[in-house]
Amino acid sequence: MRFETKNVHFQEKLDHTEMSKTKPIYQTSAFSFHDLDDMESFFKGEKSYLYTRVGNPNTDDLGKGVADLEGADKGAAASSGISAILAAVLAVAKSGDHIIATEDLYGGTYQLMAKELIDFGIETSFVDFTNKDSVINAIKDNTVLLYSESITNPLLRVENIEQVVGIAKEYKLKTIIDNTFATPYLIRPHESGVDLVVHSATKYIGGHSDLSAGVVTGSNALMSKVKAKITNIGSNLGPFDGWLACRGLKTLSLRMERQSRNASTLANYLASNENIKKVYYPTAASKKGNGAIVSIELAEHVDVHQFFRQLSWVKVVPTLAGVETSVTYPLGTSHRSVPEATRERLGVSTNLVRISVGIEDEEDIVEAFTEALSFS
Ligand SMILES: *Cc1c(COP(=O)(O)O)cnc(C)c1O
Repeated sequence: MRFETKNVHFQEKLDHTEMSKTKPIYQTSAFSFHDLDDMESFFKGEKSYLYTRVGNPNTDDLGKGVADLEGADKGAAASSGISAILAAVLAVAKSGDHIIATEDLYGGTYQLMAKELIDFGIETSFVDFTNKDSVINAIKDNTVLLYSESITNPLLRVENIEQVVGIAKEYKLKTIIDNTFATPYLIRPHESGVDLVVHSATKYIGGHSDLSAGVVTGSNALMSKVKAKITNIGSNLGPFDGWLACRGLKTLSLRMERQSRNASTLANYLASNENIKKVYYPTAASKKGNGAIVSIELAEHVDVHQFFRQLSWVKVVPTLAGVETSVTYPLGTSHRSVPEATRERLGVSTNLVRISVGIEDEEDIVEAFTEALSFS
């Protein structure tokens, strides 16, 4: 099947007496058995479900749906993007190991690595991934993993995934790519040889800003480790959120196509606005588009507070990727905890605004920003 068809047909046809067209929600903490032999059949691998923390049809569907689109053997869902990242990292790194991560990481991932993994005995070096030598020079005897993002936040740098995989192969390291901003509609890191792909399904996979979830995809061998981590840590996704995320996932192609097109229109339009110093929007992220996030740096004379107040129907929110256009202030949200020197080097300035472009009519989006950018 082609991408758009796989996108809506990842769930098996049901063969229940009721023949429900959509998958029912298995809102249950456990599964029941006829007798002890029947329960034993779970442990022999003849039955799929025992206890929801170990597995549930709705959360498994989400893992499978994303794995199909990423072109991976298997996927597993977790309770959030961060818990998916934790499970993925713990599947390849243990106490005493060292990780090299890109320095322009999502703020929450930076926190996880700098504040929590260090207490697990896993040390992370944050380096400039645009410079191949700086990555190679950071490699130590105990380095096991290179970690980056396909499109970074908030300045939308498109990672050179081939280069990351090339270094990893040469030094026998594993690779993890966070594909949240790109989604498999635009970029499929496994096709370049990446070991594990992680997602905050809270964003485009769910797409409607109504749930928290994460997904990891990869080979059967690695995913059995990831799945064990999710189960043993207890960071499984609940059945209802799994079901909701699957419903959102089915329109990923349509949403990404429309949102990327709207974003490209807005980026072109904003480029000539006198109140904007710089527009950040990728130029060659993929054949299908460049994503739905546009970041802008307002000119020095513009009051960022006034700009936010003048946005009529565009919501100010600390997230992205919903069907509605929204804006964020990275310095006050995702990058609050990033050290000032790193923030300055990365270009996360006081006048930086990140726009998550939605599915509305492009003229209305352009008008909303024209209005917000008119100062008297
Ligand atoms: C939001 C986000 C995360 C964290 O996901 P949660 O679902 O909030 O835990 C990780 N990576 C990226 C790129 C994100 O945008």
